[in-house]
Amino acid sequence: MEKEWKMSGRAGELAGKVALVTGASRGIGRGIAGKLASLGATVLVNYNGSPQKAGELAEEIAAAGGRAECVGCDVSDYTACAGMVERIIEKYGHVDILVNNAGVTRDNLLMRMSEEDYDRVLDINLKGAFNTMRHLSRYFVKQRGGKIINISSVSGVLGNAGQANYSASKAGLIGLTKSAARELASRGICVNAVAPGFIDTEMTQALPEKAREAGVAAVPMGRMGTVEDIAEMVAFLAGEKSNYITGQVICVDGGMAI
Ligand code: NAP
Repeated sequence: MEKEWKMSGRAGELAGKVALVTGASRGIGRGIAGKLASLGATVLVNYNGSPQKAGELAEEIAAAGGRAECVGCDVSDYTACAGMVERIIEKYGHVDILVNNAGVTRDNLLMRMSEEDYDRVLDINLKGAFNTMRHLSRYFVKQRGGKIINISSVSGVLGNAGQANYSASKAGLIGLTKSAARELASRGICVNAVAPGFIDTEMTQALPEKAREAGVAAVPMGRMGTVEDIAEMVAFLAGEKSNYITGQVICVDGGMAI
């Protein structure tokens, strides 16, 4: 299978743009980073626990003729995010595309869920997006333009038994997206959410076989989604063809949220 980050015939669509993708060392974020790079963007590959994987991705993008650099940072850390943004602005002068993709699950039934598991999921999935948006939005406002894409989930749209913390974080992300979209629209900044369904990554590979089967059974299209399915939508929302779309939640889920 071809790597997502092979320079595409559409290279140039995002030429001159700088994109920060959080949680880009693995899974969906990795696919998004590769896709944006293949369209000509300079991609900042954020990672936390997987520096080696992030480094390999940056090397692969460079080998394919693209531009990428790794930026380590735990997105749940407000001050660390401020430092990351400062370093990026110092070096590149601007950021045009922010993709808040970093996310984790710590599933359990509500009655058994620990406070720590609740807090950690909210801190990474929801506060992490707030942190990057908070620190980057003033640059977006100054440059009167930019694209923010938050990776929510079908669980945030529908709820999901065993995922109270995760669903709350992803539903919260939708509220954050809509409020920011209203605040920033007059400055030409688009803020949208993508809500993936059941996508084949390490996150879902970690599920027991029975849960995976139940997940696929809930998809009207009868299959898991791919990283590429999500990356294509993010690339559309990052590019100019979506300039009149803001505050929306686009479900890329094979029909799960119908
Ligand atoms: P994954 O394979 O588990 O990858 C998660 C990514 O998040 C990794 O790159 C990880 O980086 C990063 N991350 C975790 N904690 C972080 C932190 N504190 N700071 C910075 N980065 C952090 O997950 P995935 O399936 O690709 O999911 C990506 C996003 O899509 C998540 O927001 C997830 O909720 C959402 N989503 C996934 C599905 C699905 O079916 N897979 C469905 C709906 C929504 P390190 O390893 O470097 O820490």
